[in-house]
Amino acid sequence: MTKNLICINCPRGCNLEVDTETLTVKGNSCIKGKDYGISEVTHPKRMVTSTMPVLNSKKILVSVKTSSPINKEDIFNVIKEINKKKVSAPIKIGDILISNVCNSGINIVATSNAEEK
Ligand code: SF4
Repeated sequence: MTKNLICINCPRGCNLEVDTETLTVKGNSCIKGKDYGISEVTHPKRMVTSTMPVLNSKKILVSVKTSSPINKEDIFNVIKEINKKKVSAPIKIGDILISNVCNSGINIVATSNAEEK
């Protein structure tokens, strides 16, 4: 079977054609596209972005993301963990707010700052 995808690794957006049996990729302009095409048909991953409430800041929410892409099937559980968490300021971009979320080996990190009230 052939799966048609658009590579999301850069703005060029190459149209990929991935053979799901032989795992051969056509249409990619670089190795990243080949890796992405194979990953999408074998174990797709996504970055997760969200927000967390801040308890002691004028800023009500701090934005967060996974430190690297996470398996698609784990996204729901990761979002549940993020939604349970409340954090305290000061928070700086890059701070780890949840370590090893859902035993994935991936952290949830801040993508914005929050000053203490
Ligand atoms: S295959 Fe390479 S050049 Fe094409 S969109 Fe992906 S990263 Fe960009």
